Amino acid sequence: MYKARAYACVSPTAVLAGTTIPRRDVTDRDVQIEILFCGVCHSDLHTARDEWHSVMQTVYPCVPGHEIIGRVTQVGAGVTRFKVGDVVGVGCLVGSDHTCSNCKNGLEQFCPSATFTYNSPDKHGTAPVTYGGYSDSVVVEEDMVLRIPTNLELSGAAPLLCAGITTYSPLKRQGVGPGKKVGVVGLGGLGHMGVKLAHAMGAHVTVFTTSPGKREDALKLGADEVVVSKNAGEMKKHASTFDMILDCVSADHDINAYLSLVRTGGNLTLVGAPEKPLPVSAFALFFGNKTLGGSMIGGIAQTQEMLDFCGQHGITSDVEVIPIQKVNEAYERMLKSDVKYRFVIDMATLKA
Ligand code: NAP
Ligand code: ZN
Repeated sequence: MYKARAYACVSPTAVLAGTTIPRRDVTDRDVQIEILFCGVCHSDLHTARDEWHSVMQTVYPCVPGHEIIGRVTQVGAGVTRFKVGDVVGVGCLVGSDHTCSNCKNGLEQFCPSATFTYNSPDKHGTAPVTYGGYSDSVVVEEDMVLRIPTNLELSGAAPLLCAGITTYSPLKRQGVGPGKKVGVVGLGGLGHMGVKLAHAMGAHVTVFTTSPGKREDALKLGADEVVVSKNAGEMKKHASTFDMILDCVSADHDINAYLSLVRTGGNLTLVGAPEKPLPVSAFALFFGNKTLGGSMIGGIAQTQEMLDFCGQHGITSDVEVIPIQKVNEAYERMLKSDVKYRFVIDMATLKA
C-alpha cells in the first residue's frame, strides 16, 4: 500500500479539500497510472453531496472522478497490453467478475460484482470504498484500462471516458445515423458530447436548452437546430417528429413535454440522473407506441469502440481546464449550467 494525494470531501455539506489516500501496490494484473487530467462529471457532484442517497449512499471520505487520463508508471508481471509510458484512460468501471452473462455480453457495468471507480466497495480491501480520479495516481486492473487514440488532445479526451460513452451507447442502440432526427436535451457535459457524436454519426441534431445564450455554441458543436425549451411555440413546431431524444438533464424537469415530440414508435432515453423521480404520463407514451428507456455508461469494449470512433473523427470534449483548487467553484458553476462544456482538472496542480 502507498499514499496518493487526492481531493476528498468528508460529508455532504463539506467542500472538497486536499488529503492523502491509500492505494494498493500493483498486483500481477494491475496497471499503475499517474493521473494527468480528470473530468468533472455532474455525477461527481451528486455523489459528493449524497444526492443519490436512496439508491446508493455515499461513504466518506469521498474522492470523486471517473474521467481519467494518465500515463502508465508501473505494470504487474502478468500485464500484457500496457507498458510504462503508455497514455491510457479509465472511466467509471475499475472491476467486474468477467464471468457473468452481463460481462460476457460486454455490459460489465451491470455485473453483480461491478466495481465503480469511486464510492464502490473496494474488493482489494485497501479502503472501505474505491477512490476516484481527483488524485495523482490510481491502480486499476488491466482489463478496465482503455487506449487513447494518439491524435486526441489529452484534456479534451478525458470527458470521453464518461460523458462520451454515456451518450455514444444509447445513440448506437437506437440506430442513430443518416436520416434520423435526434434531439439532445440539456447542453452540459453529456449533452455537448451527444451533439458531437450524433452529428458525426450523420443524424439531424436538435438541441433543447434552457440557456438561450448557448444557441450559437450548439450550432458550432454540430447541432442543425436549437430550441429554447421554455418557448412553448418553438417546442410545438417539433411535435411527433423525433426518432430519438436523449435526455441529459441533471435536475427536475418535465419529460412529458419531450415525449410529445417523439414520433410514433420513437424513443426517449434518459441518461440524466436527477435526484428525485420524474412523473411520466401513460398517455404521453401510449399515444404513438413510444418507448421510454434509460442507459448507464457502457461496457469496456464499447468504450474502446467509442474512443476509436472519436479518434477517427477527431472528436474531443470542449473543456475548461482548471486547477484542482478551483473544483468547488466548478461545482457551483455546474449547478448554474455555467460550464462550456466540461471542467477538466489539470492534476499537475495537485502537487502545488
Ligand atoms: P451538466 O454538465 O451539469 O449538464 C446538465 C445540463 O442540464 C445543464 O447544462 C443544463 O443544460 C441542463 N439543466 C440543468 N438544470 C436544469 C433544469 N432545472 N431544467 C432543465 N435543464 C436543466 O451535467 P452532466 O455532467 O452532463 O450530467 C448530466 C446528468 O447525467 C447528471 O444527472 C449526471 O449524474 C448524469 N449522468 C448519467 C450517466 C449515466 O450513465 N446514465 C453518466 C454520467 C452522468 P441547458 O443549459 O442547455 O439547459
Ligand atoms: Zn460521469
